[in-house]
Amino acid sequence: MKILVISDIHANLNALEAVLADAGECDATWCLGDLVGYGPDPNECIARVHRLPNLLCVIGNHDSAVLGQIDPNAFNSEARQAIEWTRKILTASSWEFLGSLPERVSTDPGYFNLPRQITLVHGSPRQPVWEYLLDTYTATHNFEYFDTDYCFVGHTHLPIIFHHSDGRSPARPTIPDSGQRVSLSPRAIINPGSVGQPRDRDPRAAFIIYNPNEDVVEYRRAAYDIAGMQSRMRKLALPERHIVRLEGGW
Ligand code: ZN
Repeated sequence: MKILVISDIHANLNALEAVLADAGECDATWCLGDLVGYGPDPNECIARVHRLPNLLCVIGNHDSAVLGQIDPNAFNSEARQAIEWTRKILTASSWEFLGSLPERVSTDPGYFNLPRQITLVHGSPRQPVWEYLLDTYTATHNFEYFDTDYCFVGHTHLPIIFHHSDGRSPARPTIPDSGQRVSLSPRAIINPGSVGQPRDRDPRAAFIIYNPNEDVVEYRRAAYDIAGMQSRMRKLALPERHIVRLEGGW
């Protein structure tokens, strides 16, 4: 069993295609939200993700803002510009897909008969759309807000795993290198990093391959045509800050 876990595509089709090519055939895909915002290809990215076999997908804060469920003024001005631009070009079917996404998915024992049950959210199990899990203190408290073995999150655009072995000691963070395989042990919060707007100083698209039978996540990166993406974003007059960030991965 091979599960592709992706997050924060942010309408970057070049990065998404590179990830799908690099990942190869997978039995299922779990997508942790923020399909849109920042990049030039929201409709194409949504259509591509929608077609993936056995997809589970949750909504992110940028998706929610595009739908009008979050006030765009809660975002900085460049993110807000990208959200407003996205609203203008979103097709009816993209609109419908984003509108169908739940804030949280938890598998039950029947799901592919996986040995572990999992929760998927964009931000955190405590506040699925908005909270950032950036530090051990916040992560430790969040273990009270899901009852499955593992919780996969996105939102920070930073690859990290928090392991929590008992209810007394704080969670233990691991920042995995590209190519590193990490054995999981209940319980854990796992962030694959971002496909379309990485922020850990590695500009390549980030993703995870999860093998539930071995209880292992493999952190992977895929190089893609960043310069091509940047020139398309410039032609569309998308905010310069998000264009420049792509090449440095910040
Ligand atoms: Zn994001």
